[in-house]
Amino acid sequence: MIAFRHVQMLIPNLKLIAIHRLQEVESLRAERNAVANKMKGKIEPSERQRLIEEGKNLKEGLVTLEEDLLKLTDELQQEAQCLPNMTHPDVPIGGEESSTVRKLVGSPHEFSFPIKDHVQLGKDLDLFDFDAAAEVSGSKFYYLKNEAVLLEMGLINWAVSEVMKKGFTPLTTPEIVRSSVVEKCGFQPRGANTQVYSIEGSDRCLIGTAEIPVGGIHMDSILSESSLPLKYVAVSHCFRTEAGAAGSATRGLYRVHQFSKVEMFIVCKPGESDSFLEELIKIEEDLFSSLGLHFKTLDMATEDLGAPAYRKFDVEAWMPGLGWYGEISSASNCTDYQSRRLGIRYRPELSSSSPKKGTGNLSPPQFVHTLNATACAVPRMIICLLENYQQEDGSVVIPESLRPFVGGREVITYKY
Ligand code: AMP
Repeated sequence: MIAFRHVQMLIPNLKLIAIHRLQEVESLRAERNAVANKMKGKIEPSERQRLIEEGKNLKEGLVTLEEDLLKLTDELQQEAQCLPNMTHPDVPIGGEESSTVRKLVGSPHEFSFPIKDHVQLGKDLDLFDFDAAAEVSGSKFYYLKNEAVLLEMGLINWAVSEVMKKGFTPLTTPEIVRSSVVEKCGFQPRGANTQVYSIEGSDRCLIGTAEIPVGGIHMDSILSESSLPLKYVAVSHCFRTEAGAAGSATRGLYRVHQFSKVEMFIVCKPGESDSFLEELIKIEEDLFSSLGLHFKTLDMATEDLGAPAYRKFDVEAWMPGLGWYGEISSASNCTDYQSRRLGIRYRPELSSSSPKKGTGNLSPPQFVHTLNATACAVPRMIICLLENYQQEDGSVVIPESLRPFVGGREVITYKY
């Protein structure tokens, strides 16, 4: 909030200075042109020499002012990038505690035996190796082993297949992108608390979510109205520094630096984004219900929206071993926040009653709206499955809807 106020005050000041510098540049350009015009006429050699000198001085002054103007415009652009989106009028105001529960599905599984968390289950069933990963890469990395690998691949396949049934186009994406695209999507690639890994000596970053490369697909383009909505379901790895996450929930697979995720992304006309947000939430809720999870859907409060979201709904599922409701998905309507920065517009078709119809005139392009939502963030889904479906004998039952995607396996048991 403090950062936002700083930007709010800074932008008008910078804007005034930039306007003033622009006026100076324009008046110097006019003087230089006047000198150049005078030199076209018939003039004494001494006067010509004087004009040449004057023109040279003006040119030098202009170069300095133009450089300054460019720097100011860049700075203004940087500061403006930090401004968050507007907020939907129904969003609850305040911090995390102000978010409201919009839907509650199911109830916590009842266990008649002492339960384990996913870290212990993974150890007993030989599903993860955190120790080797810590040696090789550092903390918050992991190896998946045995059925956990099948679960990862099966969950991805299951989520993509289910979302494709709703008419979404599947994608895999680049996982290294230009910092400028990261910024245009509303993320900060630099700064002490950045979540983004930048590649030293280059202008590239590792993606934190597929939303970034998918948003970039239509960058700087004008789409036809008939091509909308565009619906994508993208599979990628996500890389996050998790800076500033100290003190928050971090056990086992819960908060890691690298994970696989299936992400939905919609590009639509402005008037349609509220209803597409509903569609995305429904898909998420259907997916999690089909796995038999107990979860709640939350209308996120203003301070939890992040910069690009106009409205955001998170789903939190019950993780009995950890003993808390953990966020498993997030659906956001970013309205035109990303499309303005990415330059994604569409050209509305002239209606049949429009007086301009048939005259060859085109309607002016307008910015599209973009939305994104998690279909399956793999590590947290593995936590839910292991902790909710653990059995007294230490095995874990795989929910029926997932079995076709893990080679028909019904149960994970330790067998070595
Ligand atoms: P976000 O793109 O931040 O909305 O995250 C989408 C989903 O990814 C979240 O709802 C979580 O389920 C999952 N997620 C986010 N950060 C992490 C992390 N560091 N480790 C594991 N899962 C994560």
